[in-house]
Amino acid sequence: MRILVTGGAGYIGSHAVRALTRAGHQPVVLDNLVYGHADIVEKTLKVPLVLGQVGDREVLEPLLRGRHPALDGTPLEGKPIEAVLHFAAYAYVGESVTDPAKYYRNNLGDTLTLLEALVATERPLPIVFSSTCATYGIPQQVPITEDHPQAPINPYGRSKWMVEQLLTDFAAAYGLPSVIFRYFNAAGADPDGDLGEDHNPETHLIPRVLDTMSGREPYLQIFGDDYPTPDGTCIRDYIHVADLADAHVLGLERLLRLREREETERRPLIYNLGNGTGYSVQQVIETAKAVTGRGLLAHVAKRRDGDPPQLVAGATRAHQELGWRPRFPELETIIEHAWAWHQRRHQG
Ligand code: UDP
Repeated sequence: MRILVTGGAGYIGSHAVRALTRAGHQPVVLDNLVYGHADIVEKTLKVPLVLGQVGDREVLEPLLRGRHPALDGTPLEGKPIEAVLHFAAYAYVGESVTDPAKYYRNNLGDTLTLLEALVATERPLPIVFSSTCATYGIPQQVPITEDHPQAPINPYGRSKWMVEQLLTDFAAAYGLPSVIFRYFNAAGADPDGDLGEDHNPETHLIPRVLDTMSGREPYLQIFGDDYPTPDGTCIRDYIHVADLADAHVLGLERLLRLREREETERRPLIYNLGNGTGYSVQQVIETAKAVTGRGLLAHVAKRRDGDPPQLVAGATRAHQELGWRPRFPELETIIEHAWAWHQRRHQG
């Protein structure tokens, strides 16, 4: 199946491209390369890359019909796209607070343009959307299930929540089929070692721990040790990026099956993606020490704004309805793969 992957040059998108290819699909990536990496798409994944903005109708509309120079000479040339995985988004919470316009323009405005293009085709094109546990805000209880009330506490979370509302309204009004995945903490790297996390700036805990252990950073800041958790540091549910990628293939295939049987209810299918196990910042550091055999200098710093004490997924719906079984649920494995990628990236 021919699939447009927006943001396919980024961290989670690139792993999804690999999962799609392995499942026999034919992806094409649309990415503005603000944070993505062209060489990952062209050299590592070897799929066509269209450089552009999701909100640019002049690129998007012909592309959905298979018309773009990047597709010339490929099996996608001149053939309509059949489904979309929409990863493209800005995802720095702190920046979303200081520059919300950037987040609403890109994450919300461009997505509206994309959705309009999807319903303008003969038959609305199915879309799988990357949402986030940040749409829940400060949880009232953990594990968080999909029906937990949503009250995002920053513009990034709100931009994702708003797209969820668009998808709900587009499903009801236009019959747009969609899956919404609410990711918990994406981490790790492809087990083959040639794809992984490469953010600039890097704000995520596991790569920062590894940067410190390899001497690239002088010390790690632990953002708060006075939270109401057993060791005082924040608890998160780390999910392997390859497991997230697999869920996308399953979600897409379920959407298409339901559509074939004309069983799509006119609302999005919504799934949390996490392991259902929480680890504190301190536990992540300890596990990373065991995996790498290295130590690190850590200072306790003040809390980071907007960090809930604990986020843990209730993800049984994805297990039951999609048959999703994370292959790498252990934190050790997640960090092992992240470490292998880290070493490879910084050697070469
Ligand atoms: N964290 C930390 N030091 C860092 C980066 C993150 O203590 O240098 C903490 C952060 O406060 C949060 C957890 O690690 O409690 C996970 O943060 P990350 O940015 O990886 O993901 P988030 O949960 O914010 O999406």
